[in-house]
Amino acid sequence: MHAYGQFAMPTRLPETLEPLRELAQNLRWSWHPDTRAVFELADAALWEQTGHNPLLFLSQLSSARKAALSTNRRFLARMRAARKDLQAYLARPAAENTPAVAYFSPEFGITETLPLYSGGLGILAGDHLKTASDMRLPLIGVGLLYRSGYFTQSFTPDGWQCEQYPTLVPEDAGFFELASAHIHLALPGGADLYARVWVAQVGRVPLLLLDSGDDRNEEAERNLTNQLYGGDTLTRLRQELLLGIGGVRAVRAYCDAEGLAEPVVYHTNEGHAGFLGLERIAELTDEGLGFSEALAAVRAGTVFTTHTPVPAGIDRFDRGLVGGHLSVALPKLPTEACLDLGAEDDPGVFNMAHMGLRLAQRCNGVSKLHGALSRSMFAPLWPGLEAEEVPIRHVTNGVHGPSWAPHAPDLGLPDEEVMSARKALREKLIEAVRGRMRSAQTDSEFAAETAWVEDCLDPDVLTIGFARRVPTYKRLTLMLSDPARLRRLLLDPDRPVQLIVAGKAHPADDGGKRLIQEFIHFASDPALRRRVVFVPDYDMALGREMVGGCDVWLNTPTRPLEACGTSGMKSALNGGLNLSIGDGWWAECFAPEYGWSIPSGHDGVGGLSRDEQEAAALYDLLETKVVPLFYDDHPQWLRKIRAVLGTLRPQVLSDRMLTDYLSSLYRPAAQSAAEISASNFSPARELAEWTARTRDEWPSVVPGALEVNADPETGCVSFRAEVDCGGLTPDDIEVELFVGTAQGDTLVDPIFTPMMSGGGGTAWETYEAVVDVPRGGHFGYTARVIPKHPHLAPHELGLVHEFQPSEHTSQRPLKE
Ligand SMILES: *Cc1c(COP(=O)(O)O)cnc(C)c1O
Repeated sequence: MHAYGQFAMPTRLPETLEPLRELAQNLRWSWHPDTRAVFELADAALWEQTGHNPLLFLSQLSSARKAALSTNRRFLARMRAARKDLQAYLARPAAENTPAVAYFSPEFGITETLPLYSGGLGILAGDHLKTASDMRLPLIGVGLLYRSGYFTQSFTPDGWQCEQYPTLVPEDAGFFELASAHIHLALPGGADLYARVWVAQVGRVPLLLLDSGDDRNEEAERNLTNQLYGGDTLTRLRQELLLGIGGVRAVRAYCDAEGLAEPVVYHTNEGHAGFLGLERIAELTDEGLGFSEALAAVRAGTVFTTHTPVPAGIDRFDRGLVGGHLSVALPKLPTEACLDLGAEDDPGVFNMAHMGLRLAQRCNGVSKLHGALSRSMFAPLWPGLEAEEVPIRHVTNGVHGPSWAPHAPDLGLPDEEVMSARKALREKLIEAVRGRMRSAQTDSEFAAETAWVEDCLDPDVLTIGFARRVPTYKRLTLMLSDPARLRRLLLDPDRPVQLIVAGKAHPADDGGKRLIQEFIHFASDPALRRRVVFVPDYDMALGREMVGGCDVWLNTPTRPLEACGTSGMKSALNGGLNLSIGDGWWAECFAPEYGWSIPSGHDGVGGLSRDEQEAAALYDLLETKVVPLFYDDHPQWLRKIRAVLGTLRPQVLSDRMLTDYLSSLYRPAAQSAAEISASNFSPARELAEWTARTRDEWPSVVPGALEVNADPETGCVSFRAEVDCGGLTPDDIEVELFVGTAQGDTLVDPIFTPMMSGGGGTAWETYEAVVDVPRGGHFGYTARVIPKHPHLAPHELGLVHEFQPSEHTSQRPLKE
């Protein structure tokens, strides 16, 4: 029957059971064990069957069961206790001295029941919201509602990935509509884009989701937000315009409706939401500020996080296409000035990361290594600066403990109990994997041949996990480089290894699908399949089981392409040991007591490719270190588990991440935003005027002589520099001196000293500094002029004039 009408029937509950609805509607159930236990207690079989999705569960709860529960005193007491706990959690006052933050992201991974995520970026965003909620930070999340969210994965008998798109009905997901939000964007060609706004409650944190499934839209616009990263570039651009521009309007409507203070900090998680800065500029120009004044004000309170370590990964659009959209969506803004914010080498291209960097006074990468990489990658935006001076810092990602390690062994337990807790997690994982394999197999035509599933994997065998998206750089099949060697490891009669692997390829990525197929072919060998499985449909639920139950978490990215990586952190929360290329977070957190670092290779060494060398190093570590330790040295393995749980865990928890964001980005941004908007934005106006003048006059600033005078008696070296300030004043500039050890062409370990203005009077302004040189040797020095303003970070403008020191003085030996 294809033609049918529709009606909806709300879930009815007896009055006494209404608290269940309240518990189900706040997504805190997804990380609160006592709340989950209430649903399980209500009907364990149905709870399993409905995939731990409480609203679905309630809608299917039988009348008989409801009647029984509503008189079950023990159950009612548990339910009421959980509700009381939720109400107390929500009622706690917000943390003090924390600015209100709006956090924008194209995806949010909160629970497997809401397919609004595709991978690490979304999971991170979900963990960010949950942690902010637990830490009582006043944060609002902003994203898109994908009605056919991220796909579920299945396979043809030949191991080729197939995708099915689930349907998300916001009403059934417990979201409520923010009816007072009137989101409308004009599109080129006279079309209109309307959007509804849904509010999902993530503990204390509201998550606003924009949804183009609005009856006022024509079909094309109605489908705009259907898929996450689906569709063509036009779809993607329009999704991003809606997220950024519509998102700010949704925040306004929400704060208005709830009587909340407006956010002072706007954080864009990757470039997709960057248009939010333009909407905020448009708001301020409505209040009478000029474009560059509004830009200065908006930048002060904006934080941009980049996650992309390669230029190819950055979102880029045709400049004309963006211009066409901006001129109608934000008609009051000067389109060319907006487009310049996204300018890059290619004049025809609008670069979302560049706009992100130019619209945010504070920017960060997501691990120490990725911060450094981002500084070099984006250095061209700050001409004149050394890469290490580029104003992009890093906050290393973290993961949410209650979500990823609900059953982690407690450090206080005696040794045997830590080991048995680990074994229980391994057993639970194996059960979960068998369950998934079983249901995948009954879907296939070969059900009769699938009895092996019942005894695949062994709870006493060293278990290695590998699960992630499957882009090429993650090298899913590196471990297959030498199949015979891997076979020997898996099938060793005394000390075997078992391997659990999962991952999804992007629907358009045939290369990734081929890698998965190759793996499935390897794993389907009847001799191996009890020791190696590829588990279909990697999602947060499978991820949670895997990071819990695997003894070793394997990661083999091509360094430095893993910006951070978080699944290994989740494993560490559970006492898993990492075996990974020294990339992302592992490059900074690795220590021998936490696991093993696979060294990176270089193409051509020993006649081998880089992949071959790294695979060989991986096998070596497994054969000589990991396997012997697991089977032959329990005390040592246990010491490692304790080290991971004791000292690594606090480093990788998202509490640490949020604390870092607060201290190094949110609080300073809130401070800058407050300063620059004081007295009706007069500092913003002044800064915009100053910036324009400084840029114009910069060529007229001329460094002159730079003199040095070393006193061999005292070890003091005095420096004197002359600067012609041209059209600027001495207060507009800073002179920076660097003194270090001279080694060939380079200055090693230079020490920075600001030079003090010594007055002038003539055309030349003088600057002076005295440096104490306590030891003998050959030294070098250099100096440069940069612009200086109290509302700017030292290198924000990227303007520099270098001095040309005279050769002979820089090399003179000092004080022997
Ligand atoms: C944690 C997680 C990721 C990200 O893991 P990486 O190690 O960063 O690749 C992706 N998908 C799911 C389902 C996850 O739980």
